[in-house]
Order: sequence, then C-alpha cells, then structure tokens
Amino acid sequence: MSPKKRAQKVSTDPVLAEARRRGWLRSLEVRANAPKCGAKSRQTGLPCKNPVKEEGKRCRFHGGATPKGKDWHRRQFPSSPHRLEGKMKALRRRDREAEERRAAMTLEEREKHEERRRHRQPGTPLERRKAKYDREARKMVSALLDKPDKRRSDEEKALAAEIERLEAAAVELEKAKEDETEDDKGIFG
Ligand SMILES: [Zn+2]
Repeated sequence: MSPKKRAQKVSTDPVLAEARRRGWLRSLEVRANAPKCGAKSRQTGLPCKNPVKEEGKRCRFHGGATPKGKDWHRRQFPSSPHRLEGKMKALRRRDREAEERRAAMTLEEREKHEERRRHRQPGTPLERRKAKYDREARKMVSALLDKPDKRRSDEEKALAAEIERLEAAAVELEKAKEDETEDDKGIFG
C-alpha cells in the first residue's frame, strides 16, 4: 500500500485520534522503562540503550535477532497462529523474490550461484566447528608438505603436535555431539 493510500485510511474521528495518541504515549512509556541493550555503539562508544525484552539481552541491531541453537539454519515457525500467518507470508515473498533473482541471472551467474550453494551448506553449530577444525588441520598438512625437506625440524614437530591436538579436539567434539542437548546455545550463544 502506498503512503498516500494509508494516510487516507486513517480516520479523522477525534475519539480514535485520542486513542491513538494514548497508545503512542503508552508505547513511549514502555520503551522508556524497558531494560536497555548494553552493546557498545560503534559511533559514540556509549551503550546502545535500545529497549530489549530482558535484562542482559541485546537489541536486534546488536545480535538480538541472530538465530541460536542447533536449528539456527532451519526455518523456525512460531506457535501463535497470527504470527505464523505473517511468517508464512514473509517466507512466500522471500522465496518468490529469490526465484525472480535466479530467473534474471545469466547462465554463468547461475552456475556460480549453484556452485556456491552446494559448497556453503550451513550446518549445526557443532558441524561448523568440526568443519573449521578439519580445514585448519588440512591447511597445516599442506603447509608441511610444501616445506623443503631440510627445513623440517622444530617447526614441523610443532605443526605435527598441533595437528594431533586438533584431531583430539575433533574426537572430543564428535563425543560431545552424541551428548548434545536441546539447550545448546550454539556458536552465537
Ligand atoms: Zn543495541
């Protein structure tokens, strides 16, 4: 709806206008009394002060809206029917827009896009941590293999020890995965 149309829909009834004004004042009061986001503002260096739902939480600009937990990368559906309806509408719109963007791509762009999608599959926080350890271990191995033989010495030993440490950590993570419970706060926790 255009802003003009919306403006026309707003009633000029003085009783309704008063109700709106009171609602607005009430929301100002709620905001003023709500706990505040304490994140440091990058511009001023002072705490952010946006209202938050709970003491110690962050506002949506400072990570408050960042998905958490095991299913952070999957679509979440609210239990309230009203909110669910809004979510479904937003998802349909997002899917449609994504489809439109894909349809507008050149063949080359499309291939690049598909390639990226194949390789960047978000996993659970645990899977992501494990993949990171694996990447680091692989990097170290290839760094070792690139070194000329005569230079393999203390440095190599240190790297080998580090690889061993990472592999042990990976095993630990694997174990932790089996114990992982619902209350896991995830990588953003
Ligand atoms: Zn904030």
